[in-house]
Amino acid sequence: MPTLCPCDSNKSYTECCEPYLTGKQTAPTPEALMRSRYTAFAKRKFAYLVKTMRGEAARAFDITAVRRDAPLIQWLKLEVIRAEEQGDSGVVEFKAHFRYHNKPSVLHEVSRFEKVQGHWFYVSGNQGLSS
Ligand SMILES: [Zn+2]
Repeated sequence: MPTLCPCDSNKSYTECCEPYLTGKQTAPTPEALMRSRYTAFAKRKFAYLVKTMRGEAARAFDITAVRRDAPLIQWLKLEVIRAEEQGDSGVVEFKAHFRYHNKPSVLHEVSRFEKVQGHWFYVSGNQGLSS
């Protein structure tokens, strides 16, 4: 049995996010990038998170806090609500379900993406915790 990808695509990890996380391929769409970033959180591939952000998102990213909190977070499920792209910009709305300190929580975010020299980057997100 192949290992299913953490991003809940129902595909095996090797056929889904792994080629992006290892750098063999770059994510072809904002949704693929968003999914691979969720997988990177789940697998604690922090360098990939840094590599795939620019602008406001990169400035707001606190890798020390992310590393520190990672052992307290279990990523449970990803739901992509909508994914759109137009030219060099894209939007993905999603809900990421997780447990933090064993308390179930949901991150509901509308993320913005930009394509620069053929590569998609996460540039900002409007997030809030909801159920
Ligand atoms: Zn995946």
